Amino acid sequence: MADNEFDVIFIGGGPGGYAGAIRTAQLGLKTLLIDDRQGEDGKPAPGGTCLNVGCIPSKALLDSSKHFHHIQHDYTEHGISTSDVSIDVDKMLTRKRKVVKQLNSGLIQLFKANKIEFVNGRGKLFADRQVEVTPNDGDKYTATAKNVVLAAGSVPFSIPNVEVDNEHILDNVGALEIPEVPERFGVIGAGVIGLEMGSVWRRLGSEVVLLEAVDDFLPVLDRDMAKIAQREFKKQGLDIRMGCKVSGATVDDGKVRVSYTDGKDEHEEVFDKLLVAVGRRAASDGLVADDSGVTLTDRGQVEVDGHCRTKAEGVWAIGDLVRGPMLAHKASEEGIAVAETLAGQAGHINLDTVPWVIYTDPEIAWVGRNESELEDAGVEYRVGTFPFAATGRGLAMGNASGQVKIIADAETDQLLGCQIIGANASELIGEVVVTMEFHGAAEDLARIVHAHPTLSEAIHEAALAVDKRAIHKAN
Ligand code: FAD
Ligand code: NAD
Repeated sequence: MADNEFDVIFIGGGPGGYAGAIRTAQLGLKTLLIDDRQGEDGKPAPGGTCLNVGCIPSKALLDSSKHFHHIQHDYTEHGISTSDVSIDVDKMLTRKRKVVKQLNSGLIQLFKANKIEFVNGRGKLFADRQVEVTPNDGDKYTATAKNVVLAAGSVPFSIPNVEVDNEHILDNVGALEIPEVPERFGVIGAGVIGLEMGSVWRRLGSEVVLLEAVDDFLPVLDRDMAKIAQREFKKQGLDIRMGCKVSGATVDDGKVRVSYTDGKDEHEEVFDKLLVAVGRRAASDGLVADDSGVTLTDRGQVEVDGHCRTKAEGVWAIGDLVRGPMLAHKASEEGIAVAETLAGQAGHINLDTVPWVIYTDPEIAWVGRNESELEDAGVEYRVGTFPFAATGRGLAMGNASGQVKIIADAETDQLLGCQIIGANASELIGEVVVTMEFHGAAEDLARIVHAHPTLSEAIHEAALAVDKRAIHKAN
């Protein structure tokens, strides 16, 4: 094979592209990975949105701010007194950047160890799987491959009359680099990013206002669960205003003035920083030439089938660029599934059991279908719930808010969905995902021995509650 010929080329080195590239290389395929992202130091920064300006840095700030909040508000009841607690935002951001850098370097080591050819630059697909490669520090050339995987990820949506400058009006990139605690922090969109970043700055002392367009809070959750979450956030001081249509934002004398209507009246709010977090769209601009054979949906996503195949022979697309949830683990699993398919194995991903997590406090996690989806589909179901306040571990930890809800088929008892609001929901949901993957029933969860005292007992009890036989609550 000539130097510029490959078995597979990945365009985009986020969790989808890099995981897929590592897997094709493990399977003995000659692999080129192209990613354009650079760090502040101008060095390659593979890992995509997730590692650089998404999952990892946001969780680093969520963890730092959680420590700060707990020390101030939750330690006294444990008999621990503290005084003069302060936050050094600069240090917090330095730690976050260090975590990101460490993971960037780890990936570059992994590329070398797996003999992946990695180019820091842009890739564009032309006909017959020819890829124009434009390195960040060199001349353009063409590489070809038997297969090309598009993994360019996503970019934030913008809204009219609200121009992101990443100094006063921010997207996710700016929101992760705010140099001092803003007195008033505004957010447009009470979705996943809005709630996570709103929590960070609220815990550090900002007054936080979220302006959400729709009337239902977190519509993916059942209303009883959404109410619990909304109540918890209200207790923490997050001011979440539903049904708000923002008409514009202007920056004046370092402050952001936002105008919006709540359906009845016009309002204006002034913030020190404003985050725009109204969803993301596929990063397909300029990715494929007209002759590539790849087709896009009217929303700009690359069109794929259930196996991530595009309309062009030998061209695949994965992750945020295609249909399905915009989540790092979904992107990685698609990358790996495509890699295994290319090596002649049975690559597989089940989008019905992809777990979601919002890393607020309490955490919110869910998998499968909710009650209204099941009603729409005409499926009969039974529900079991169990509050963490009735678990010994939750009370001993001093963190017992929220509950587990399990939904099972009324006839077969097969698990159809689960929603958890509570401490460590991100870890707890895994048990339900595994059981669902094995087509397990609520009865299976109910018969499995769960360690005592653990938060996982709430899952056990919720599964028992499906059959009205929970032990530690009235059924
Ligand atoms: P990306 O991670 O976006 O990677 C694509 C890469 O390709 C980027 O580096 C991009 O610069 C590069 N690229 C684009 N076009 C080209 C081109 N033509 N040539 C070369 N390179 C190109 N998900 C979770 O599961 N858990 C979380 O906790 C979580 N937190 C998040 C927090 C925030 C603030 C944000 C914004 C997102 C978060 N997400 C989270 C979502 C997650 O980041 C994405 O779902 C995930 O990164 C998608 O992976 P991907 O590989 O499809 O694309
Ligand atoms: P989102 O879809 O989660 O939330 C966007 C919110 O903005 C919605 O509630 C929507 O109704 C609202 N909205 C839309 N237009 C509006 C407008 N004009 N005015 C006011 N509100 C408006 O999107 P996001 O928070 O931007 O995050 C993008 C995606 O990134 C997520 O959907 C998720 O896929 C991913 N993500 C995941 C995690 C995680 O897994 N923990 C964290 C952050 C981001």
